[in-house]
Amino acid sequence: MSADPSTEVGEDIERCWCCGSTDRPDRMVRLGNHPEVHLCVRCAHFVHQQAWRIEDGDKHGPATFARDRLRGLRSEVMRRGLHRNKFVGGMLRRLGKHLP
Ligand SMILES: [Zn+2]
Repeated sequence: MSADPSTEVGEDIERCWCCGSTDRPDRMVRLGNHPEVHLCVRCAHFVHQQAWRIEDGDKHGPATFARDRLRGLRSEVMRRGLHRNKFVGGMLRRLGKHLP
């Protein structure tokens, strides 16, 4: 296997440039000016959240404050590993998809 993350694994499978996971091409997000770069949906959500966090760094207001607090809560949940808990982990992961 090549070390180049852009290497297509197969005709119907591509590799994520970020985490290396594989999926169908229609399940990958491509960068506009660099369509050779594709991210899995999970990494695309992560990149989106990071971009939102950076944009919020320049803003002030109640919505920004609330998003910042939710990010802090998410970090604490992940630090404690609650997102992997067999009882509440699934609910927390689903909730996390809808939070900043
Ligand atoms: Zn990925």
